[in-house]
Amino acid sequence: MTTLHLIELTCPICAVDFRSQTVVATNGYGGKRTDFHERATGMQPLPFFVHLCTECGYAGVTRDFGDDVEITDVLREQVWTELAPSLQHALPSGSLKYEHAAKVAEWQGHDARYLADLFLRAAWCCVDEGDTEAERFFRRKAAWRFADALADFGAVPPEERAVLTYLIGELWRRIGDHEQAAGWFEQVADEVTEPAAQGWVIEVANQQRVEPREWFT
Ligand SMILES: [Zn+2]
Repeated sequence: MTTLHLIELTCPICAVDFRSQTVVATNGYGGKRTDFHERATGMQPLPFFVHLCTECGYAGVTRDFGDDVEITDVLREQVWTELAPSLQHALPSGSLKYEHAAKVAEWQGHDARYLADLFLRAAWCCVDEGDTEAERFFRRKAAWRFADALADFGAVPPEERAVLTYLIGELWRRIGDHEQAAGWFEQVADEVTEPAAQGWVIEVANQQRVEPREWFT
């Protein structure tokens, strides 16, 4: 069950005060997909970890609505010209909230991994929304950003590189590009730094390359 709670936010772009729902508690996760997407029982909590101002389209996590958030004139302009026009519904979907949050984060200069995580969450929301085309679109964006993060020396701690490499392979597999997927799965073993603790990643990468499963057992 997912428990939500209303919070009051002020948009740093247009100064509108609005209420948004946020996640207080979740329990009863019912398994995890092989791209780490957890299935919640009952309402999906994922859309409620980000907030969106329906006046201008600005979005982010709670701290992006804090008093100390820095808004440049350029960012304000980008929000009004690129995000505001895409608001068509009074109740934005989870994927739209994450997409806008990712764009804002990109304009603010956040690192590739942070952007990748937002795009991955947008893709997960699309799964729950039943929009396979948008799901692939966001998976591709996430895969590229995770790859950028791995290519940026020092951006990803050594002990996390194998899991991210596996995840990129799994994203490409779910996109339907099996060649790219296999390439990433094959690199997983080379990225392992602690064989005892990370043996499972090699195992699951081999499994997804040869005989893929949709859920972790
Ligand atoms: Zn706003």
